[in-house]
Amino acid sequence: MATLEIKNLHARVAEEDGEQILRGVDLEVNSGEIHALMGPNGSGKSTTAKIIAGHPAYEVTEGEILLHLSEDEFGEDFDIPEDKQTWSLLELEPNERAALGIFLGFQYPAEIEGVTMTNFLRTALNAKIEEREELFEDEDEAEAEEEEDEGYETSPMEGPADEGEVGVAEFQQILKEKMELLDMDEKFMQRYLNAGFSGGEKKQNEVLQAAILEPSLAVLDEIDSGLDIDRLQDVSKGINALRDEQGTGILQITHYQRILDYVEPDHVHIMLDGEVVKSGGADLAEQLEDKGYDWVREEVYGTA
Ligand code: ADP
Ligand code: MG
Ligand code: MG
Repeated sequence: MATLEIKNLHARVAEEDGEQILRGVDLEVNSGEIHALMGPNGSGKSTTAKIIAGHPAYEVTEGEILLHLSEDEFGEDFDIPEDKQTWSLLELEPNERAALGIFLGFQYPAEIEGVTMTNFLRTALNAKIEEREELFEDEDEAEAEEEEDEGYETSPMEGPADEGEVGVAEFQQILKEKMELLDMDEKFMQRYLNAGFSGGEKKQNEVLQAAILEPSLAVLDEIDSGLDIDRLQDVSKGINALRDEQGTGILQITHYQRILDYVEPDHVHIMLDGEVVKSGGADLAEQLEDKGYDWVREEVYGTA
């Protein structure tokens, strides 16, 4: 099991006189659980997500983010030694956090022509495997490897698979299994990365990324926005499969209650003005739908 523990997180925009955005976020998400993080626009939900992933636009001024891993979090044949079972995420690079099992769906900045989605995903998976090996390698091994590596320079997009890497054929098999798991159409696989994807397909692709990378915890920021009802159901089915079949913990960020009809949260948290002000069960989201956020504001601050 893995646990993401966010304690008293305060953060500001990393610029001179940057605005204080987070004012005390506390959250604890275990693998296998679904948490909904809700709140009005501008309350700090996306900022929280980006800071978990290591976005450089923000400076953490107080608090911490810990990741606890149980010995067998990465499988039976990957024992995590005791001194590497707790990590302070704020001290790690974004790719190191990803390698430890934190997933933040990424939207591509631009269409990358000629790079197939399969190639892109395989590269992402291999990068994660390699980074994870480095994080858990003991120091003597690391030194020996460094000497060995000297003089070699290869692009991850090219050439045959290195030792320990997932090769093309093996990856095709993984992709097929994951698409079945998510009940996705196989012709998706042939598409070029991002090119010609509709908004809804990009969201499905985000779930597919998570299925392939098998994170312990996935942060999904407004994956429900702009989806019609059919696509919302498809995406929801995928999210449930991530939890049920892979044991992924989900931090589902959403403004609206709608997706929670299909992805039922174990816990609901409400953010206002950079703080988690209220947490509860699934019924909390239903109350929000009936009464809106002003009701929470009134309850917490005594004024709307
Ligand atoms: P939410 O996702 O809940 O809608 P955000 O986390 O995106 O809210 O934003 C919270 C507040 O912080 C907003 O007022 C937003 O304008 C501000 N903010 C977020 N990121 C930045 C940034 N990089 N620079 C300046 N202001 C920011
Ligand atoms: Mg947002
Ligand atoms: Mg073991």
